[in-house]
Amino acid sequence: MSENKPKIVVLGAGYAGMMTTKRLMQQFAPEEAEITLINKHNYHYQTTWLHEVAAGTIDVNRSRIMISDVINPKRVHLIYDTVKKINKADKTVQLENGKVDYDYLVVGLGFEKATFGIKGMEEHAFSIQSVDKSRLIRDHIEYQFARYRNEANPDSSMLTIIVGGAGFTGIEFLGELAERIPVLCKKYDIPRRDVRIIDIEAMETILPGFDEELLNYAKDSLEARGIEFKLGTMIKEVKADSVIVGEDNEEIKAGTIVWTGGVQANRIIGESGFELTKGKVNVDATLRAPGDEEVYMLGDCAWVMNNETGKPYPPTAQIAIQEADVCAHNIKTSIFGGTLQEFSFDDKGTVASLGGSDAMGTVFDGNKLYGLSASVMKNVIDDRYLFLLGGPMLVLRKGKFRPF
Ligand code: FAD
Ligand code: NAD
Repeated sequence: MSENKPKIVVLGAGYAGMMTTKRLMQQFAPEEAEITLINKHNYHYQTTWLHEVAAGTIDVNRSRIMISDVINPKRVHLIYDTVKKINKADKTVQLENGKVDYDYLVVGLGFEKATFGIKGMEEHAFSIQSVDKSRLIRDHIEYQFARYRNEANPDSSMLTIIVGGAGFTGIEFLGELAERIPVLCKKYDIPRRDVRIIDIEAMETILPGFDEELLNYAKDSLEARGIEFKLGTMIKEVKADSVIVGEDNEEIKAGTIVWTGGVQANRIIGESGFELTKGKVNVDATLRAPGDEEVYMLGDCAWVMNNETGKPYPPTAQIAIQEADVCAHNIKTSIFGGTLQEFSFDDKGTVASLGGSDAMGTVFDGNKLYGLSASVMKNVIDDRYLFLLGGPMLVLRKGKFRPF
């Protein structure tokens, strides 16, 4: 690649990074720009399926896609390394094993769990955050079942699973647990009544702010499959084998504690000197970091303002994917001239899986879907992304509707 071409560097191969790289390949001829994609692993994963990996209802490999299968390594320089820091002053990115310089930077390093300083959370709670961390949850739960069978007088709390938070991640994970636990009970000859799955949520309702009819449907569906809810109860502390909750500091013992209580931008952003608002960068309408015109901040690293409500959009894969188009267009415009595009979110709705063939949500203009039709819609949404990323062959290989 020639030395004088503009260097565009994309950090993170999540929804934002992968789709931006695809769009950059479409926007630029090979001689017009040097495109580099840097990611920790040689695979991209479907973050939106990690609750299934964590519960063990899908195989890990189903959620992973080799990056070089969808991004042509002859067009894009692929670097598999860990980003350590962005040096804005000299426009370089420090990696674990090297340094890369950029003219334009796209930051799609995603999220990490927000622990809000809760004592013991970092050390003792699992989180659904990456393929490796999710697989650890699956293995830990199964280990507790195996342990229970092997102890003379097993403590039944070993089989208690606590999920902290009843946002969408928590609810989707509970749905998968509701399906998975009976399978493990059968495998280890353990009665289902010996296992408790308790969700602890600070607010008086699950899915705070969501449609009441739909959240009641979700709650009823989960309770019918043995999930217990403790609402209006704040987790205050996490210990190795218990959580301390509520005003009266009740201690609940558990063998597995999974925190789904919130997310924040990858800490590298703050450590690199970008100004954070509630853990994320408040980008301008063209998706650039304020004061850094050549840095685009996408996906879960960014707050994008909804001008109608005056609040930021919730961080989702849906928005991350849509941001890619505007980002690629604006980088091209910055290089060749023209008018920068402002991002406008086309909200296609929200659908949450509840395990098996159950789901609920709203689509398009607020139509509510429940049960099988919602579950089919969720699979269509997932497969649509695979289609955008890798065409029909990727849908056939990894999609939810694949024929084998
Ligand atoms: P990510 O998808 O998190 O990707 C970040 C990438 O950066 C990863 O590949 C990671 O390996 C890489 N990376 C991180 N740190 C480094 C580093 N230091 N060096 C190199 N590479 C690094 N949203 C929806 O719209 N619909 C859903 O149904 C939905 N379901 C969800 C289910 C779960 C269980 C979870 C946890 C989230 C769900 N979300 C959903 C939210 C959605 O997944 C996120 O908003 C989305 O993943 C954000 O995309 P992203 O590209 O910003 O980051
Ligand atoms: P969230 O912030 O949406 O929910 C966290 C929940 O934890 C909240 O209900 C909060 O009240 C609760 N909580 C916080 N502190 C607590 C404490 N100390 N004790 C008890 N409860 C506590 O986080 P999330 O569910 O991880 O979702 C993150 C983002 O990903 C959101 O934007 C969400 O919309 C998106 N997402 C979307 C889908 C989907 O569309 N199907 C699925 C998963 C996630």
